[in-house]
Amino acid sequence: MKTEISAAPLEDGTAALALLAKLMPWLTGKHSLEEILHAINAALGASLVWVLVEQEGVPQFTRVGEITCTLQDAVTLLEQSQLRRNLRAWRVICWRRHVGTLLFPENTLVGNKLKSGILCKLHVQESGLSGYFFVAFPQSTLSLSVMKNVVIILVEKLKSFLVEIISRDRAAKEIQHVIEQYKALFDRAPVLMNSFDKNNRCILWNGECERLFGWTLEQLNQQPDPLALFFPDPLVRQQVRASVNTSPAVDMHEWHPVRRDGQVLTVLWSNILLPDHSILSIGLDITARKKAEQQMERKATIDDLTGCYNRFAILQHLKALLVSCNPSDPRSHFSLLMLDLDHFKNINDRWGHLTGDAALIHFCDKIREHSDPSWLFGRLGGEEFLILMPYTSSKSALRFSQKMRATLTQTPLLSIGEKITLSFSAGLVFVTSDQVDTSVLLTLADNALYDAKRAGRSKTVIAGAFL
Ligand code: GH3
Ligand code: MG
Ligand code: MG
Repeated sequence: MKTEISAAPLEDGTAALALLAKLMPWLTGKHSLEEILHAINAALGASLVWVLVEQEGVPQFTRVGEITCTLQDAVTLLEQSQLRRNLRAWRVICWRRHVGTLLFPENTLVGNKLKSGILCKLHVQESGLSGYFFVAFPQSTLSLSVMKNVVIILVEKLKSFLVEIISRDRAAKEIQHVIEQYKALFDRAPVLMNSFDKNNRCILWNGECERLFGWTLEQLNQQPDPLALFFPDPLVRQQVRASVNTSPAVDMHEWHPVRRDGQVLTVLWSNILLPDHSILSIGLDITARKKAEQQMERKATIDDLTGCYNRFAILQHLKALLVSCNPSDPRSHFSLLMLDLDHFKNINDRWGHLTGDAALIHFCDKIREHSDPSWLFGRLGGEEFLILMPYTSSKSALRFSQKMRATLTQTPLLSIGEKITLSFSAGLVFVTSDQVDTSVLLTLADNALYDAKRAGRSKTVIAGAFL
């Protein structure tokens, strides 16, 4: 390393002051310790300069000069110098002759080369920093008293520099440690984290993303539009981009990306705007949770055997229809059809309970097949069912029940080679007002159904419009 400072004879105080003035700008945090030592080495005309600093038991050894030495050489010198043992009594030691032989084994070339030297102790109480500064020269004719003063001043300056540089090093190490921890956390966290730049290139793709979606970052960026892998629909892709680039959505938003094996996932995404204006997306895969919720919901509202609404759910729908029913709005009027299979007990008695179950399923399948999609079909219990038909007149509902009888006759249940023809009786109520209780409506329908049974079964009786 080159410095602009060159060695000059150092014989008196004026020369020493001039030299210090040149060196001082070097002793700042802008330079590394090695650079500083080079500057000192060149300015003093030394052959070896080193600094040994110990902090919290860890030695840091930096040396420059044409003659080189190891940390062990430095430790040997310190042990022979007494400076280590007599911390209080000694601060500086000067050697006028043969200092090289203290550092290196006797009669070695380098050992013989170093003639004089100065060892100075560094100790900063507050920072717990301690160490040594050593400078050695190839000649013994130096004005050591002047040189010693120069070194003491340099060491004073070095101490504050070292404190600064060490605390900076420590802060940098701590930051590095934190960065590494974050990196590990980022990669291993069971949270999806990714980022796409303005050109739709993926610039961040953590381990969880790779695991869940099945693509690596490199594979993504081989695609003309990586986002298309997850959102094949261009319209959805546009929405995703808007949510990320135009108006980052901080709140969790539900998306349904496709994974590599084609499975559609449910993922909650939230976006964070980073200081460099890139956007980090954080996501949570809730596919399993969503599925479990849907299953629970299904279990709570669907009848296991027939797949139609259970009693609770169909009565909830009835309440809702009733609440929105308005006499002056014909679109809110609806028909309610209560159905009961005829002589169902006989099927169980004759063919067994399993065939009875199959008959219930067959009946429900046929109803669903011929129903309008807007209708709501539920099992009240046993072999009794309810169909709610929004915006359907009693005439249409009646026609439907007749059509169903014909259908059931044409398509009997086939059981072990036998044909079982199902028939049902029904009670029908047309509802045009919300001024009625569900239980009243059900009683009306039930009475009409009972009338149909009494009238010989396989019939539908209209309870009359309820106003
Ligand atoms: P009616 O024409 O008067 O309605 O006669 P029914 O035989 O259909 O009526 P009843 O009330 O006498 O008998 C209904 C039978 O339905 C009794 C019950 O064992 C049977 N049942 C109720 N739920 C189920 C079910 O889930 N599976 C089977 N296989 N049978 C059921
Ligand atoms: Mg019955
Ligand atoms: Mg019954």
